[in-house]
Amino acid sequence: MINITIMAQTPQQVLEASKAQCIFCKIIEGEIPSFKIYEDSKVYAFLDINPVNAGHTLVIPKEHYIVLPQMPDDLATHLMKVVKYLSGAIFEMTGAHGINVFQNNGAAAGQEVPHVHFHIIPRFQDDKAIGEWKRNQIDPEKLKQMAEAMGKNLKPISSRVNLGSTTPKVTKKKKVATKRKKTIKVTKRKKL
Ligand code: AMP
Ligand code: ZN
Repeated sequence: MINITIMAQTPQQVLEASKAQCIFCKIIEGEIPSFKIYEDSKVYAFLDINPVNAGHTLVIPKEHYIVLPQMPDDLATHLMKVVKYLSGAIFEMTGAHGINVFQNNGAAAGQEVPHVHFHIIPRFQDDKAIGEWKRNQIDPEKLKQMAEAMGKNLKPISSRVNLGSTTPKVTKKKKVATKRKKTIKVTKRKKL
């Protein structure tokens, strides 16, 4: 008889396993080449290999975290400061008419590389580089109920010690670094 024991991975083991295969960690280590535009002791920023527009930049923490809620508050705060700085600088350097700052968490949200990253994307009038979001109409009464249900679980940040979570809920997509088009089209507004 074959005896099979299935060992559940701890959140730390999940993080370690994803780190071992992470292309962004390899970029930070210099094992994979990248086009760096900014670096400090905690954060690294480089050009996206498949840019939506010229100047499309990725900003990542040097430490490996899969999704934003896992990050310690102080590191997330520093990362955000760098994103703010670079978004202003890229805006000026590219002569863009606008800037998108995107951050995907989880495959369902479009995350392909399981290492926290912010996209800074220069945008130009009518460039149609990114499709519009699918937006819905909703009954204001439902919004009211939803806001109450969600709001009662939330406390002011100042009253919390650390917002970091240790439970990554990310499944890795196989395909990375290939040319692709992101299109999200609005057809009609669905009633929720
Ligand atoms: P996301 O879909 O939010 O996970 O975005 C991942 C981004 O990483 C995509 O825009 C890819 O084009 C980009 N990317 C993947 N591999 C590399 C690489 N080796 N160098 C630069 N950008 C990369
Ligand atoms: Zn990583």
